[in-house]
Amino acid sequence: MLTCREVLDFLMAYVDGELPADEVARFEKHLAVCLSCVNYLASYRATIRAGKAAMRGPGTSLDKLPPDLVKAVEAARRALVQSGESE
Ligand SMILES: [Zn+2]
Repeated sequence: MLTCREVLDFLMAYVDGELPADEVARFEKHLAVCLSCVNYLASYRATIRAGKAAMRGPGTSLDKLPPDLVKAVEAARRALVQSGESE
């Protein structure tokens, strides 16, 4: 089982469809039981929709995205990292 932190590491590749099938399966197994990762994924996808051009490539930057979305994603990410640390 992946940890929330590993899910965060894989998230971009997962959303981009670049994750190998076996990793996708592990990823989705975690999502099936972890609501905070599901929520994070949802806000991450919303961010991508809003700033698709800005999210391309490995040098991804949140700088060009609407501040409200950036704030929402960062808040979700912080919550996830904290819940991962409490294990
Ligand atoms: Zn999780």
